[in-house]
Amino acid sequence: MSEPTFATLVSRWYEENARDLPWRKPGASPWAILVSEVMLQQTPVVRVLPAYEAWLARWPVPAALAADTPAEAIRMWGRLGYPRRALRLRECATAIVERHGGEVPDRLDHLLALPGVGTYTARAVAAFAYGQRHPVVDTNVRRVVCRAVAGEPDAGPATRPADLLATEALLPAEPAAAALASAAFMELGAVVCTARSPRCDQCPVESTCAWRASGQTAPAGPTRRPQRYAGTDRQVRGLLLGVLRESTGPVPRPRLDQVWTDGAQRTRALAGLVQDGLVEPVGDDSYRLVGDGPALPLPDLTR
Ligand code: SF4
Repeated sequence: MSEPTFATLVSRWYEENARDLPWRKPGASPWAILVSEVMLQQTPVVRVLPAYEAWLARWPVPAALAADTPAEAIRMWGRLGYPRRALRLRECATAIVERHGGEVPDRLDHLLALPGVGTYTARAVAAFAYGQRHPVVDTNVRRVVCRAVAGEPDAGPATRPADLLATEALLPAEPAAAALASAAFMELGAVVCTARSPRCDQCPVESTCAWRASGQTAPAGPTRRPQRYAGTDRQVRGLLLGVLRESTGPVPRPRLDQVWTDGAQRTRALAGLVQDGLVEPVGDDSYRLVGDGPALPLPDLTR
């Protein structure tokens, strides 16, 4: 009898050990899976869970989100961070309604053509929502493949075509099994083959892992420092957005000025929010979330 493949070993482990997450439940819709993938891109699972539940309770289908305002999408995004994702998700919902009758498409080229849906997200939706065979490569999968197959401790800079090919080579031929393996690779990288503390003694592929076989016991790659947040423009943007999210109408500039003492940094952060399409000026010197209320009056061009 032949030895079980890498994918078989990891898939078996996944079926016994996968975390119980709502977007993995059998009834999760393609829209729910798409929402989860966008939220999870830059935010940990524990923070995504409540936001995901609230988002889908309010907008269970793309048409519901498309019919609501961008301001409400930003509000519901709350403190997940990188709030432009909320706008992109709403644009995506609108495109799904306009191009696909409100159903998340199952074709990879159609998914890739949606606003805010990139290489990773399109393949994740095609695999996890529709059971298709595609390499789904995030940071965790790149690390697992790099260690287990190439024997390197860290994946280094992304090289998209090579990463996709290396992962695809590990997938079973049958689509449903390939989709399961894709989820399993991601989970292994997220909870066992982690960046700094891989738990090789609990890994289903320890006996065949090239990096383990090389005798390494700790990752030798560069340590990535956590990004600083306190005192950055990102923090100031978050504080300004927090005030605007809580408000039901335009917020006068003096109220916004209270969130941060450094005027130059405050002005820069506010300008960045406007430039990113999250906030718009209204009236003389007030601001609101974009599209939050009636349309702005057109400027008087006769004067
Ligand atoms: S044996 Fe260790 S390094 Fe290799 S894939 Fe498993 S956890 Fe990662």
